[in-house]
Amino acid sequence: MRDTLVLNASFEPLSTVTLNRAVVLVLQDKAVVEQAHPELRLRGAQVDIPAPRVIRLCRYVRVPFRRQAPWSRRGVLVRDRHRCAYCGRRATTVDHVLPRSQGGQDTWLNTVAACAEDNHRKANRTPEEAGMALLREPFEPTPADAMLLALGAEELGALPEWLARDAA
Ligand SMILES: [Zn+2]
Repeated sequence: MRDTLVLNASFEPLSTVTLNRAVVLVLQDKAVVEQAHPELRLRGAQVDIPAPRVIRLCRYVRVPFRRQAPWSRRGVLVRDRHRCAYCGRRATTVDHVLPRSQGGQDTWLNTVAACAEDNHRKANRTPEEAGMALLREPFEPTPADAMLLALGAEELGALPEWLARDAA
């Protein structure tokens, strides 16, 4: 669906996010709608809001756009939407693709979200050694991810059920 422009609290454009994420930011009181689609409203049992075209963050965030976002475990989980890179179920741990015992580093490209079970099963082995395939390759966070990290957003992938149903 359409992307929504995100402005910083200072009105400076930051990034774009999907409409779904924009709505979640508004519902979580992290952003307000500055400009809405003229004819598109999102309706649920208890909510009726204009589909945001432009939103503005309620608090100013400093986002290092020109630099790489600093690596963190929480950042890896947010980047991967708390989904295990090996099985797709909910992830609560961070796995080093090349294990630290083999010289693997804390970098965006060497770490993925993993469920505790898979992380334990893989142990100090590479995916090849463990016979476990990555469902997706690790990647550098996008500017949108970096912004959401700076916002302290934990769970932005999930759309409220009523909205997922209505938007479909
Ligand atoms: Zn898993």
